Amino acid sequence: MQPLSYARANDVDSAITLVAGDPSSGFLAGGTTKVDLLRLGVEHTDRLVDINDLPLTAVDELADGTIRIGALARMSDVARDPRVVARYPAVAEALLLGASEQLRTMASIGGNLCQRTRCPYFRDDVSPCNKRETGSGCAALDGISRGHAILGTSEHCIATHPSDLAVPLVAFDAIVHTVGPAGTRMIPIDDFYLAPGTTPEVEHPLAHGELIVAVELPPLPLAQGSLYLKYRDRQSYEFALVSVAAAVAVEDGVVSAARLALGGVGTVPWRARLAEQHLLGAPATPERFAAAAAAELAAATPRPDNAFKVALARRAIVRGLTRAVEGGRS
Ligand code: SF4
Repeated sequence: MQPLSYARANDVDSAITLVAGDPSSGFLAGGTTKVDLLRLGVEHTDRLVDINDLPLTAVDELADGTIRIGALARMSDVARDPRVVARYPAVAEALLLGASEQLRTMASIGGNLCQRTRCPYFRDDVSPCNKRETGSGCAALDGISRGHAILGTSEHCIATHPSDLAVPLVAFDAIVHTVGPAGTRMIPIDDFYLAPGTTPEVEHPLAHGELIVAVELPPLPLAQGSLYLKYRDRQSYEFALVSVAAAVAVEDGVVSAARLALGGVGTVPWRARLAEQHLLGAPATPERFAAAAAAELAAATPRPDNAFKVALARRAIVRGLTRAVEGGRS
């Protein structure tokens, strides 16, 4: 592991100043991914600025009903916050289905949103990988791609985004709040995640030294009946092959509102807008749910290793929508 120096910031402004003034610096929150990547030689930060003393751990309900989650709130705390559990159960479930209890106790919400892909070629520091080393190629294209993406891919990268939490956040139009050298920003989460295109190394629009300070969940009564389903190779401490965040409202047997997002299949947390469009005004039946899933997955670009994800995602969507209508939990 390369030598590095360490500083501890007392407030947001000093943290930003410390990182922004040094291109080789980076923020350190829970460290549950960052330290791994430094040890593996995948990231090359010379100075870590520890932000764990910053006052960004609160979960607050604002006057308009928005839930504001501090970027340093721990996954385990947010998952058990009664307001999150009652109003956005898919968020609580996604948090509890991620990582392990030990990791959830350390990992922060802001860090979760910025976590890097689990593509093994990205992490081995040897294979060609455009995300790790621009222009070096993509070993996954002709390599093992069972866990890779089928939506939003490019010829430069097919890595999946690993966050469970980001999936319901995308479904519910969360807002990412940042503070940086250029001031404050509110970034709709749809704009926060960038598909690889020709620049897979650019994953989000954060400038160097720009810090996530909070994530806001806007009022959304529909989300009270939401759920999160996760399918993976083993039942704990594993990333999703396919996951679904779903919320559906039905009136007289017809879908009047729907939110749907997918994990494990996209290069970014995937808002299934095509499926949502197919659902609105349609009968709330498994056949229509399957048709909506097929519409969303029509653009899938599977490889031989991960072609199974198309069928798995179709079934997961139908199950997620069906259970959301029934008011069932995952
Ligand atoms: Fe790298 Fe992306 Fe290819 Fe994986 S899929 S090797 S992260 S470029």
